[in-house]
Amino acid sequence: MLALLAMSAASNPPRRCDRLFVGGLVHTPDGIRRLEVAVASGRIAALVAPADAAAWRAGAAEVVDLAGAHVYPGFTESHGHFAGYGAALENVDLTGATSFAEVVARVKAAAARTPGTGAVLGRGWDQNLWPEKSFPTHEALSAAVPDRPVILTRVDGHAVLANARALAAAGITAATPDPPGGRIMREASGAPSGVLLDGAEELVQRMLPPPSAADIERRLLLAAGHLARDGFTEIHDAGTSRAELAVLRELQRSGRLPVRVYVMLAGSDDELLAAELPKGPQRSGDGMLTIRAVKLYADGALGSRGAWLSAPYSDDPTTRGLEVTPLARLADVVRRAVAAGYQPCIHAIGDAAVTRVLDLYEREVGPRGAALRPRVEHAQIVRPADVPRFAALSAIASVQPTHCTSDMPWAPARLGAARIGWAYRWRSLLAAGARLCLGSDVPVEDPDPRLGIWAAVTRRPPRGTAEPGWNLPEALTLDEAVAGYTRWAAFAAFEEGSRGALAPGFAADLTVLDRDLGAYPPATILQARVLRAVVGGRDSYVAGRETR
Ligand SMILES: [Zn+2]
Repeated sequence: MLALLAMSAASNPPRRCDRLFVGGLVHTPDGIRRLEVAVASGRIAALVAPADAAAWRAGAAEVVDLAGAHVYPGFTESHGHFAGYGAALENVDLTGATSFAEVVARVKAAAARTPGTGAVLGRGWDQNLWPEKSFPTHEALSAAVPDRPVILTRVDGHAVLANARALAAAGITAATPDPPGGRIMREASGAPSGVLLDGAEELVQRMLPPPSAADIERRLLLAAGHLARDGFTEIHDAGTSRAELAVLRELQRSGRLPVRVYVMLAGSDDELLAAELPKGPQRSGDGMLTIRAVKLYADGALGSRGAWLSAPYSDDPTTRGLEVTPLARLADVVRRAVAAGYQPCIHAIGDAAVTRVLDLYEREVGPRGAALRPRVEHAQIVRPADVPRFAALSAIASVQPTHCTSDMPWAPARLGAARIGWAYRWRSLLAAGARLCLGSDVPVEDPDPRLGIWAAVTRRPPRGTAEPGWNLPEALTLDEAVAGYTRWAAFAAFEEGSRGALAPGFAADLTVLDRDLGAYPPATILQARVLRAVVGGRDSYVAGRETR
């Protein structure tokens, strides 16, 4: 690269580019450098040393002064639910409610603001934040909103609370059996309590009219705007439906997709798989939309005791969690994905689920692992014997650092003293040669990469404690955490040759921050501000300015 820069200095005529970002401190693979970033046709044409700047400035269609800001490779959210994020932004926000009474009050107020007979939808409740820390029952909610269905999704998406009207409309009674992969929580009498776990959520959700294409488009663009403000330039969409894929394709075709999307097809939809897998891996010419992965679920989540454990929960010996998808179904879809050259991505949180998925990859992917890069989404609780298997199988651990900091108040009770050391073991996985990528599972967590990087590095909640981080030997370094959102995320989507680093020829995806995340003290990470997000050379967000 230095040789190239020297040559450009020797030849003085103007160097053409679409945009020239000047005055930035550029985070290159070789360190932080005072360079100018020349962009042409959506790619980085050159990283220009100050000595060569004049020729580039003379030939630039636009010069953008970054005024000392720090330029990172465009961040990637490696595991999010794109349309689900948009829907969550439109629903009643129940996050942070510190009692069930507060949840009911927020829902009642929202129902009053939107009169009618339609369903009231909410998202984000978490009984672990309430004094009683146990699942709610529907009575107070049903009394507050008696005349229309209410469906409130738990923060992790793996449980809903329905009011009496919704239960009645769905025909759920004491006589209704638990559906496969799900559970209807019940009172002592056997009557439904209102809480429906995993596969049982469908019983109430299917009475809602499916979102229209216009609903989906509005939600995707709403979510994309929030992602851009957080500095993201790409999202790995962890389970894209048929209807969502159609809208994504239309947004890409019309040039209105503000972030790149790496699609994991919803593996529960046979019609979707039958339509897409025979086409093989797909990538739009502008690199904005890639379809080459399939998403499946092996189990539920830890907070709702749906994560599938090899021994009973320490705080509920009656359950080991849920096998959300039967093994035969998982194996069948993985086989079809592998045959089509698609990457399998399987949600596995409990240790029994992780073992099952690794076994499956050993049998069904085998030597093709290096080419297909199978992913274990979450990989939260990993038995010691399974740690080295990730590298052996070329399996990527797709982890969410904020799950660790959100879960630490109650995860030890769920797992007990012996197993808690198996949880969120990023350093163990790295040391054993595994590849990681980082994300948030938005809307389960706030996707803000500052929170994720902070959690990865400190394993402490962002506020309110000076205590040392939780199981700190498993923390990542700052450089590793940033790599998890950039270089490693690119690898997890087969994009390491074109994204995830600032280098000539790479996509002009930039995340511009007002400071160096690596500056001391670590609180700097939380204080950083996103100044600009650039996707393929175009601004998707500029601080203080409304953009597309
Ligand atoms: Zn997820």
